[in-house]
Amino acid sequence: MIKVRNIHKTFGENPVLRGIDLDIEKGQVVVILGPSGSGKTTFLRCLNALELPEQGTIEFHRDNPIKVDFSDRSVRKSILPLRRKSGMVFQQYNLFPHKTALENVMEGPIQVQKRDPKQVREEALALLRKVGLADKVDLYPYQLSGGQQQRVGIARALAIQPELMLFDEPTSALDPELVQDVLNTMKALANEGWTMVVVTHEIKFALEVADLVVVMDGGVIVEQGSPQSLFAHPKHERTKAFLHQLR
Ligand code: ADP
Repeated sequence: MIKVRNIHKTFGENPVLRGIDLDIEKGQVVVILGPSGSGKTTFLRCLNALELPEQGTIEFHRDNPIKVDFSDRSVRKSILPLRRKSGMVFQQYNLFPHKTALENVMEGPIQVQKRDPKQVREEALALLRKVGLADKVDLYPYQLSGGQQQRVGIARALAIQPELMLFDEPTSALDPELVQDVLNTMKALANEGWTMVVVTHEIKFALEVADLVVVMDGGVIVEQGSPQSLFAHPKHERTKAFLHQLR
């Protein structure tokens, strides 16, 4: 469904991504692991053009197929179509503080997609029910726990009806007792067949939910495989060291 080839991204003199290739099948849950600074977040942001790589291609083959070649000078034309393919869930939720949960979820479909507000409202209410927040729709972010805010963030990302859901360390800002609610919501999405790429340190989630685990180090993918094979028999020294440290 999605083919990523040879993504390179440099910040100043710092080559952060040094040739990333990845294939993602429809319905697959891909978990990206790796030490801090290895380029995981940058890669996720490249997938929906929040960062622009200097080089590489991203192809989506389903629905409205697109191929974006970042070394092409006219790439800026392709950014909006690429961005609309995926919904992003951020570490720090990034909700609008002056909007209610419902208004946050309705924002993208109305402001960006210019869809009918009445229908969007019904869909947003259904999404908030799905993430377990039916009784919180009129509350503002400051009236919600971190876990609830993050579930609004998930509903908001779903509201644009993306083909791909991207999660950037969605539980790392949460108090430990709130982490499970968010992971359960993500598990439910995985069971529904959503295609997801998740950057996380939650090894248990990776073992239970991932179809493919990708380990990054120093801006490259050093190893990838099923969670069972990768955790039981890591091949690369960096993978072994990293997994050891997480256990
Ligand atoms: P990870 O998610 O694996 O911790 P990141 O993708 O966040 O790694 O960061 C990889 C490297 O890129 C780090 O050295 C970080 O300082 C650098 N970096 C990330 N974003 C920027 C930016 N906007 N400007 C400059 N350097 C950045």
